[in-house]
Amino acid sequence: MSDFTLTKDADGVAVITWDVPGRSMNVMSTQGFADLDTQVGQALADPEVKGIVITSGKDSFAGGMDLNIIARMKDEAGDDPARGVFDGIMQIHGILRRIERAGMDPKTLKGGKPIAAALPGTGLGIGLEIPLACHRIFAADNPKAKIGLPEIQVGIFPGAGGTTRLVRKLGALGASPLLLEGKLNDPQKAMAAGVIDEVVPAGELLARAKAWALAAKPEDIVKPWDRKDYKMPGGTPYNPAGYMTFVGASAMVNGKTMGVYPAAKALLSAVYEGALVPFDVALKIEARWFTSVLLNPSSTAMIRSLFINKEALEKGANRPAVADQKVKKLGVLGAGMMGAGIALVSANAGIEVVLIDATQEAAEKGKTHTAAYYDKRIGRKQDTAEKKAEVLARINATTDYAALAGVDLIVEAVFEDQKVKAEVTAKAEAVAGPGCIFATNTSTLPISELALASARPAQFIGIHFFSPVDKMLLVEIIRGRETGDVAVAKALDFVRQIRKTPIVVKDARFFYANRCIIPYINEGIRMVAEGVAPALIENAAKLVGMPLGPLQLVDETSIDLGVKIAKATKAAMGKAYPDKAVDAVLFPMAEAGRLGRKSNAGFYAYDDKGNRLGLWGGLESRYARAAEQPDLVDVEHRLLFVQVLEAVRALEDGVLTDIREGDVGAILGWGFAPWSGGPFGWLDMLGAPYAAERCDELEKAYGLRFACPRLLREMADKGQSFYGRFGATKAA
Ligand code: NAD
Repeated sequence: MSDFTLTKDADGVAVITWDVPGRSMNVMSTQGFADLDTQVGQALADPEVKGIVITSGKDSFAGGMDLNIIARMKDEAGDDPARGVFDGIMQIHGILRRIERAGMDPKTLKGGKPIAAALPGTGLGIGLEIPLACHRIFAADNPKAKIGLPEIQVGIFPGAGGTTRLVRKLGALGASPLLLEGKLNDPQKAMAAGVIDEVVPAGELLARAKAWALAAKPEDIVKPWDRKDYKMPGGTPYNPAGYMTFVGASAMVNGKTMGVYPAAKALLSAVYEGALVPFDVALKIEARWFTSVLLNPSSTAMIRSLFINKEALEKGANRPAVADQKVKKLGVLGAGMMGAGIALVSANAGIEVVLIDATQEAAEKGKTHTAAYYDKRIGRKQDTAEKKAEVLARINATTDYAALAGVDLIVEAVFEDQKVKAEVTAKAEAVAGPGCIFATNTSTLPISELALASARPAQFIGIHFFSPVDKMLLVEIIRGRETGDVAVAKALDFVRQIRKTPIVVKDARFFYANRCIIPYINEGIRMVAEGVAPALIENAAKLVGMPLGPLQLVDETSIDLGVKIAKATKAAMGKAYPDKAVDAVLFPMAEAGRLGRKSNAGFYAYDDKGNRLGLWGGLESRYARAAEQPDLVDVEHRLLFVQVLEAVRALEDGVLTDIREGDVGAILGWGFAPWSGGPFGWLDMLGAPYAAERCDELEKAYGLRFACPRLLREMADKGQSFYGRFGATKAA
């Protein structure tokens, strides 16, 4: 069955409908391109056809390119992958260029047939690049539709002509938020930005596109860039106005990416160089830069983690094979910061929620979090009052445990206190039906210990959200000693309902994400004590692609929380506690009331309004700057190794059973250098032998926490990589 079908109407308009069988959204494949080319070729050759409309048989136009295919294109190219990828891309350019030229005489630009794109809904990536090659873009007035080129977010850039066409259409300045940030717009905003041409009522979409195709004059279908008198909006780089755009864009790209994302730089190069040459040469330049990005290990790693593996995990790659466990009615115990957020995202997903707290006032306050969330969105015209009322009606805020009758999942988010948690567990289980699964959102207490309070430990599990719940994409699912498969499936199905990404980990101190991020913060604080310039620490972190330096991060999460965790860890570990040097900095900060952002004072200084001013000057007077400052790479490696070695140890300990979860979880959970594809992706880039050698050097210089894990040493000896050894299969 073809992905594109052609129908002709009596007026002589050929409608080419994209409708990939068996998928809810169109995704472009190699076969899809061939089908499109065939159908367009047929319509152009048919003398009865006067105009063409390319549309979709689904609610949306297309979700993008199947990135698995890009990965395959490279793998299958044999000895010369660059040549294989480049040739493949040039073929795609050829297909879209045939659409754009629409059978015209190349010299006179006469004789072509008008081709309109008609988008019923979302058009992303190739789903916008095809329309950009058409002569006019119509979109249905569907405010939920998203239109844009989000490629940069997974480490590539629009490489099917989208870069070259959008810059030719809008100018470098106009195109830059769409290309460099992957900004998506609804149809009205996309029209205002000049990306598409007309927004029409959904019911009239096809009729309006057809009418245009029949009425279009020969000059309407010649693209400005194919005309002799074409001038790029805003000017080319050799024109004073255009020059300034490129200077600004280069600075912005370097400021935002710190030079670690090859795609942004390559995109800018394609735009700059492409602007200096004729359109067809610009397409070739775009293809070359796109090839260079696809062959860069960072892009491979980003596509692998942020697209292929993220999707695999969301679709239940590690879900036990038990019946559908979708949640119908949810109980949330504790309406504080986390409980209120969990209620919000669940009610948003259409789930009925019973939100319980100790007092009616506290329960109601939790519910107002959802109201406030919607008020903000309504203010920004992103939602309606009806939607707010509909979602709020799903939340029953109460103190009455009897309301839990009929819930099939309970998530507990009361105070981090084992006794309080045990009390509410018993109370809730007394009301909930025998099949109900009970989950705790604890950050630090062992799941298996909390399960002791449950009469049904096989149905007891950890579902660990991150704060703020509505923004953070990762959810850790923690198996206790006795947790059964149905509970795991329930948690996974729930996470899927609320559209987050799950990883399943074993019960151990700090689970996975916090286990890795705490050492990162601690390493930064240790360096302060050693007299390393705080700015060097923070900048080194940014230069390796961490979203926040360790000192800023502890300010954001709060220094007293750090102290609390340190004290609890010390109590649990006794003499083996390794972080005294960290406490020597952290505890006095807390005692002096410097608790981080929340007290407007921490490792950074803040003004009265809470704006961060810069690193706190008092640090350098307390911790004299060492006469000799470490090499930048040493600081960078300390900050990264201290996290990735913890990830390797989590794999060795069986806390992680799948490196895909380790990588995806790290990026989504704590923003681990996304360009690297995650901790295991980064170690694979370094190569195990070099990584092991660096561990030895760091251990010698800075201590045992950098000791090379047994697994990494073994892989270094055998010349293995993590993805080579574990790939998409579970670790032994
Ligand atoms: P919070 O103090 O904001 O909220 C706790 C809520 O539980 C309060 O509203 C309190 O009134 C209520 N409560 C206490 N005892 C109760 C009882 N017996 N019956 C009903 N309600 C009761 O705390 P939080 O930050 O939302 O954290 C809740 C849980 O989530 C903790 O276990 C915490 O470790 C965990 N957690 C917190 C974060 C975070 O960043 N804050 C992140 C992940 C997990």
